[in-house]
Amino acid sequence: MILGCHVSFGNEQLLSCCKEAISYGANTFMFYTGAPQNTIRKDININYVEEAKKLMLENNIDINNVICHAPYIVNLANKSDDEKWNFSISFIKKELERCDVLGIKYMVLHPGSAVNYTKEEGLNNIIEALNFILSDNVKCMILLETMAGKGSECGSSLEEIKYIIKNVENQDRIGVCIDTCHLNDSGVNLKEFDAYLDLFDKNIGIDNIKCVHVNDSKNDILSHKDRHANIGYGTIGFDTLNYIVKHEKLKDVPKILETPYTGENVEDKNRLYPPYKFEIEMFKNNNFNSNLFEDIKTYYK
Ligand code: FE
Ligand code: FE
Ligand code: ZN
Repeated sequence: MILGCHVSFGNEQLLSCCKEAISYGANTFMFYTGAPQNTIRKDININYVEEAKKLMLENNIDINNVICHAPYIVNLANKSDDEKWNFSISFIKKELERCDVLGIKYMVLHPGSAVNYTKEEGLNNIIEALNFILSDNVKCMILLETMAGKGSECGSSLEEIKYIIKNVENQDRIGVCIDTCHLNDSGVNLKEFDAYLDLFDKNIGIDNIKCVHVNDSKNDILSHKDRHANIGYGTIGFDTLNYIVKHEKLKDVPKILETPYTGENVEDKNRLYPPYKFEIEMFKNNNFNSNLFEDIKTYYK
């Protein structure tokens, strides 16, 4: 089982990520190279990269399973502001170059929101941008994330993801990241996950799935909301998520938790604690923890 979670790119960059992942008992992780909601980025310090690689080796973390996530404010689907669209393109190009320096193979990207464009135009804008982005000789692949379909989000159906993938010229550098919360919210019944995988395989090819985001959902199927819940505390439920995490056909694919921090007061950010150590344990033990929130509080207090 290749299982980890979202960690922060702290003062020691990739080394901070690595230390945090190990503290949760994870054997992989995902990070943003800065704040997810902005595009301010520091230069990569190669000393931290070397130290991180050493620490990964000692802790059985294969860097090939480590994932980067592009900030979610870049939008390749909306071309109405030329300057913004070009900025998104050049930012993603630079982010992929940073991944090469870090030795990271995959970067997850939200396809984008069409805003005032039609869905079809939005999808074509994304394809145009991707063909430009993937034309250089950088190695890092882009993984398109399956979206919940909030507002004008593109990539919330198999058809849309397929349309983008099929029209990208550089097939070697494009793949998919499926997100369980987003799939649920977009209308996929995860209780019949095998049927979804079959459909995915027929349309896009199962080998294109390079990452799975494992999240429960606060909302019902087809809600188009995108609000993540802790494992077993949402509408998807532990058994279904456990089935997906352990799925034989996805056994070599890294699974990443992006569930919310918890605490007595969700407004008080200083008193919120990461759930990952305990959620990873649930999957390791094959057992739902009905005392999750208390366990987290006791551990971090
Ligand atoms: Fe995402
Ligand atoms: Fe996600
Ligand atoms: Zn989400």
